[in-house]
Amino acid sequence: MDWQKEDLKYIWHPCSQMKDYETLPPIVIERGEGINLYDINGKCYKDVISSWWCNLLGHCNPRINAAVKKQIDTLEHVIFANFSHKPAIELCQELIRVLPEGLCKFNFADNGSSAIEMSLKMSFQYHYQTGNPRKKRFMALSDAYHGETLGALAVGGVDLYSELYKPLLLDVIRIDGPDCYRCQYNKHCAGHYESPSGKDNTAGCRCECFEKAEKAFQKYADETAAIIVEPLLQGSAGMKVYPPLYLKKLREVCDKYNVHLIADEIATGYGRTGKMFAFDHAGVSPDIMCLSKGLTGGYMPMAIAVTTQKIYDAFYDDYLKGKAFMHSHTYAGNPLACSAAIEVLRILKDEQIIEKANKRALYFNKIIREKFLRFKNVGEVRTIGLINAIELVKNKETKEPLDYRQRTGYQIYKKALEKGVLLRPLGDVIYFNPPLIIEEADMDYVTDIAAECINSILT
Ligand SMILES: *Cc1c(COP(=O)(O)O)cnc(C)c1O
Repeated sequence: MDWQKEDLKYIWHPCSQMKDYETLPPIVIERGEGINLYDINGKCYKDVISSWWCNLLGHCNPRINAAVKKQIDTLEHVIFANFSHKPAIELCQELIRVLPEGLCKFNFADNGSSAIEMSLKMSFQYHYQTGNPRKKRFMALSDAYHGETLGALAVGGVDLYSELYKPLLLDVIRIDGPDCYRCQYNKHCAGHYESPSGKDNTAGCRCECFEKAEKAFQKYADETAAIIVEPLLQGSAGMKVYPPLYLKKLREVCDKYNVHLIADEIATGYGRTGKMFAFDHAGVSPDIMCLSKGLTGGYMPMAIAVTTQKIYDAFYDDYLKGKAFMHSHTYAGNPLACSAAIEVLRILKDEQIIEKANKRALYFNKIIREKFLRFKNVGEVRTIGLINAIELVKNKETKEPLDYRQRTGYQIYKKALEKGVLLRPLGDVIYFNPPLIIEEADMDYVTDIAAECINSILT
């Protein structure tokens, strides 16, 4: 059977110009183990992007496999309205121990975008039911990414995904967010924010750029229900890193103006930034936090919007008052997904995964700096946790980007695939966001290949 041909006969792949598949047909994967994926011909690919940032503890992790196998013989799914099950309850018990203080009511969905939709609706309805019906708009940062359903797309700010659909989208208040590599205040700090060592060389930056947010709050807070952010790391924007102080300042203005702070930790949660959640770096709590991706270790589609007692209470009343949150997803609280999610938390704890990853992250960042900063087209290496991003530019001095029409990142992607490394750059930003279990030998190997590929495409 020609599996590639059969694939193209039926499948419309996500986020793809299908015509590109004429020259790069789909790679049909047979099995996975650790950070390795093996295609049907036995070729190995190092998955250093965690299969869209969700695989946390390696493919086919034996402990998660066992947990899901055990659950599947007990209960596969049950309606979650009026019904419950032990895996969901246990998951909440375990999560509450590691979540920022105050987050204690869990609403389940089955993908990240849905959790975003849920949190926007929840925030609007809270204000509506507490005497502030005027608060019906949302604020979001430039370059934000929150998913691709219409509400999530509206709060997102990456034109590549949203431009075409603007006529369909909510009118969102867009705030010029931090842009540390091209800082307008000449601070240039957070790209070098090194969380694993605890070293914070934010070079005198006091988040001067926050004045943009302050102005927006002064002007629009009366009509704003919530601001949503990807804390510390704007992933799809090209792994842009910014300092925790920005979140602290946001917490203050949100309190002052009665605006909810929604944390989209879908990509940043679960140790990706060196702490369990990105908000932990700031020492403050959001009002609503969205989780997905690492939540099930990358095994099952599941997401949670977790919120405070205060928000929950605004919906709690006699049925006929009509205050309930009428939002549901068929697969909400799926027991198989919950069983994977519980095991993920246990593994993180038992095996001290995040602590160990932080040690290896220092090594990873060191070799990446050594191998990449010397290239004439590498503008910046930025890092947080195990995530390292290499921004390719035309001119290092002026930071002028490469001509996007040359699709340099895509050429590098193809080259690296030939050599057995799965990189999938964001435009011309090459990045590593590997499972937390990646070891030094693989770090050496994948960075060598990536450097070779950049070298061969750009010189
Ligand atoms: C992936 C992602 C989403 C969307 O999650 P899906 O499950 O793909 O819908 C939202 N926000 C962030 C920050 C993400 O990385």
